[in-house]
Amino acid sequence: MVEFCPECSNLLRKKVFDGHSVLVCRCGFQKDFNLTNEEITREIKMKKKALEKNLIVVPHEEKISVHPIVKKYCPKCNHTEAEAWQEQTRGADEPSTSFFRCLVCKHTWREY
Ligand SMILES: [Zn+2]
Ligand SMILES: [Zn+2]
Repeated sequence: MVEFCPECSNLLRKKVFDGHSVLVCRCGFQKDFNLTNEEITREIKMKKKALEKNLIVVPHEEKISVHPIVKKYCPKCNHTEAEAWQEQTRGADEPSTSFFRCLVCKHTWREY
């Protein structure tokens, strides 16, 4: 018996849970062998409603630092790893300043 998922049209696979067989889809859809089509439709609707309710606005994640980690002595806590980045502080023809931030104590310093 071959059946397809009513939600995403993928092939359903047979699995056995606690002695009774269900058809499962990789999208998460499950179909009990004993359920009628009506019951299944109702279940899908309920599931969709639940999903809508659970739709929370995820706050933007804090900007993840993409600075490379370098071996640097933190002047404050003597840790040996720090984030490093460069910033152009004055004119474009001036050499940029290297900034370092200690991974442990977050102390930030710069070197010219
Ligand atoms: Zn599916
Ligand atoms: Zn430190």
